[in-house]
Amino acid sequence: MISMRNVQKHYGELHVLRDIDLEIPRGQVVVVLGPSGSGKSTLCRTINRLEPIDSGEIRIEGTLLPDEGRDLASLRADVGMVFQSFNLFAHKTILENVTLGPIRVRKTAKADAEKRAGELLDRVGVGTQRDKYPAQLSGGQQQRVAIARSLAMSPKVLLFDEPTSALDPEMVSEVLDVMVSLAKEGMTMVVVTHEMGFARKAADRVIFMADGQIVEDTDPESFFTAPKSDRAKDFLSKIL
Ligand code: ADP
Ligand code: MG
Repeated sequence: MISMRNVQKHYGELHVLRDIDLEIPRGQVVVVLGPSGSGKSTLCRTINRLEPIDSGEIRIEGTLLPDEGRDLASLRADVGMVFQSFNLFAHKTILENVTLGPIRVRKTAKADAEKRAGELLDRVGVGTQRDKYPAQLSGGQQQRVAIARSLAMSPKVLLFDEPTSALDPEMVSEVLDVMVSLAKEGMTMVVVTHEMGFARKAADRVIFMADGQIVEDTDPESFFTAPKSDRAKDFLSKIL
């Protein structure tokens, strides 16, 4: 589903992604761990082309990432992203936030988009909030709306970049529960998170990054019980 070959990226002198080779099959749930500044966000942002790469190639279902134009909008619809800061449109209702993409990008009829949005909002547990504005919802509710908005595009892949880091602690599990259910249903997911419980429960695979490189690529059980690299041992000793 996602294929990265020898991907390199610099910000000026800083080599932020080094020799990234990564094949993610359909339905796999990959948790990306690593210290701050190791390149996790940059990795996600290159997969939906929010950031260009210097060299190498990235393919989604065999198709090279487009550089610009209509193809790029369609890629962004196929590769959804959920951010730490929910990024909902403040002046649009919850329902409008979820229907906007399908109507504009997927050319879905308004009535159909609203029906589907209602189902998705119900599914993430905020169906009764549909006519409110984002600021009227809690952070956990807003993040669940952001997930529904991504799902409304029927993405092939969902990327999550620290989706619970900005939430009050009591709201973390309501978001993680939605993510666990998506994982169980076979969604292909790349999840940057510090929630080790999610990694243990839902991940098929853990990727540990340091200094822009993939240092370990293994199953969660092996990673948490027998990390191989000193960098991973050090990381785990600080967070567990
Ligand atoms: P992580 O998500 O693992 O914390 P990032 O991918 O955000 O790491 O950042 C990797 C490195 O790239 C860091 O050193 C960060 O400061 C740097 N960086 C990230 N975005 C930019 C940018 N737009 N311009 C310059 N440097 C950046
Ligand atoms: Mg980050």
